[in-house]
Amino acid sequence: MLHKILLCIPFVIPTAAAGDRPNIVFVYADDHAERAVGAYGSPLTKTPHIDALAAEGVRFRNSFVANSICGPARATVLTGLHSHANGKKHNGGGFKDELPTWAKLLQASGYQTAMIGKWHIGPKPSGFDHWAIAKGGYYGPTMVTAEGKTKTAGYTTEVITQASLDWIKSSLEADEPFAIWINHAASHRTWMPGPQYHDRYAEQVLPEPSSLFDDYAGRSPGAAASQMRIARDLFGAYDLKLPPEEGEVLGKRGNDLLNSMTETQRSAWEAAYGPRNAAFAKAGLEGDALVRWKYQRYIRDYLRCVDALDDSLGQVRSFLKDNGLADNTIVIYSSDQGFFLGEHGWYDKRWMYEPSMRTPLIIHDPRAKSQGIVVDQLVQNIDMAPTILEYAGLEVPSSMHGASLASLAEEKQGPDWRTSIYYHYQQRDSGRTSHTVAPHYGVRTKQHKLIHVYDFDAWELYDLEGDPDEMHNLFGTEGAGEITATLVRELQRLREKFQDGTGKAI
Ligand code: CA
Repeated sequence: MLHKILLCIPFVIPTAAAGDRPNIVFVYADDHAERAVGAYGSPLTKTPHIDALAAEGVRFRNSFVANSICGPARATVLTGLHSHANGKKHNGGGFKDELPTWAKLLQASGYQTAMIGKWHIGPKPSGFDHWAIAKGGYYGPTMVTAEGKTKTAGYTTEVITQASLDWIKSSLEADEPFAIWINHAASHRTWMPGPQYHDRYAEQVLPEPSSLFDDYAGRSPGAAASQMRIARDLFGAYDLKLPPEEGEVLGKRGNDLLNSMTETQRSAWEAAYGPRNAAFAKAGLEGDALVRWKYQRYIRDYLRCVDALDDSLGQVRSFLKDNGLADNTIVIYSSDQGFFLGEHGWYDKRWMYEPSMRTPLIIHDPRAKSQGIVVDQLVQNIDMAPTILEYAGLEVPSSMHGASLASLAEEKQGPDWRTSIYYHYQQRDSGRTSHTVAPHYGVRTKQHKLIHVYDFDAWELYDLEGDPDEMHNLFGTEGAGEITATLVRELQRLREKFQDGTGKAI
């Protein structure tokens, strides 16, 4: 099968004339949860530029990932395949670089292609005429290209944005359309805001999720075993930007992040965080009050990083408008996965629970007739490659697991659109600085979710209509037998359909 597909690549024939093909700008955030997107009803913030994109385009209300972690999500988006099939099952190696991807297919059909920002897939990017991988933290990233490395001194979100606009500008010299994957590193840990964002939210007390003090009762032992609690697993210097104590875990790494700033950036940082840290030291908080303080610091910093993402999108769209490109450029905004913003007491992702499994997805096709469409169907990041291919007028390889969303975006619901989605997280890690989330797979329908945390041989079942916060595990409870049996059968069917023999059998 694989050889057949590869042989096909040089013979890809666009179905539309080159001049008619739209440009594609795919803006991909890192760990940007739906709950921090205004258009998704965020109780925390507004994201004016992302919200405008949704108002003018299509918002997918039920958008999910197949494996909620950075590297695997990117590999899935590129190949249209679940992790076991593209090889990138965890953040380690394994990516099957020989697979067809939307980038390779667009490139072969004459598109000018680029990838700028976070990569995290493994082998050097293929299918891109130009690539620049941002390495480092929120400040002073090193940009690695095929030509070499360049150290920069800016704020990473802005460095990635500027490099992307520079490339788009250079691509305009040729007649062929362009497709760029703008791959942000925000709003990933350690949530360090840029200088102009330091004071945002400083005077606000942001609302807490109702499960901030979750005790994990009734859930699989895997939930309580996860090391991503705001109360316990955020590190002082590294995550919370407090002065490191002697011998503190990740204290040196926290310091290194501060040292990546220029002198001017560092003094702006100290001016903002110094007095706040002094007030914190003076307050001597303990117990729940300390957890609440950590939540506020975490979430404020997270939102400040989100604000930079939003501004970046605004800048990109202004550029498109100013250069006469807005009418023929499809803009997609999504994130590699969601993130826990205090739900279940957590930060981070990995779990199949909603805050992590959901991811924002907004598509604006300026050629579309309707605006402000909201799509309810269950879509997943396996659909991204087929969608980009269809927008580029290319055939979608039958080997891809996903399906193009273009028809849903035009409100033409296919009669056979999926009614369930498959999920499999399978990174295994251990140690104080890792998150130790147990591997698990499961199935989600519109109403229910069944999770098999197989290392613990434990199951969880949720009725998402009655219990959207997933606090009440119904597995094994009275009256849940029939729906459990139905979902187990569906899970089995999906594992067979996608030929996922990895993880413990049901
Ligand atoms: Ca991520």
